[in-house]
Amino acid sequence: MHLWREGDRSEAICSACERRVTTTFQLRPYMLRESGIEVPEVLVAVCDVCDRIVAIPAQSTPMPRKVC
Ligand SMILES: [Zn+2]
Repeated sequence: MHLWREGDRSEAICSACERRVTTTFQLRPYMLRESGIEVPEVLVAVCDVCDRIVAIPAQSTPMPRKVC
């Protein structure tokens, strides 16, 4: 699996721009919708055009594993 680092460049579909855009990986605070917990530093892909978070790599997903 490719591990992304801060400053890496990629491409993604931005839902705000409604087109394919270039992105830059940055460390940003990120609010988990389900739990309401804010994670202070999550590696995310940020749209170069509108500066919104467009993708979160699986490696960054701070989800606790569900215990059945
Ligand atoms: Zn955008």
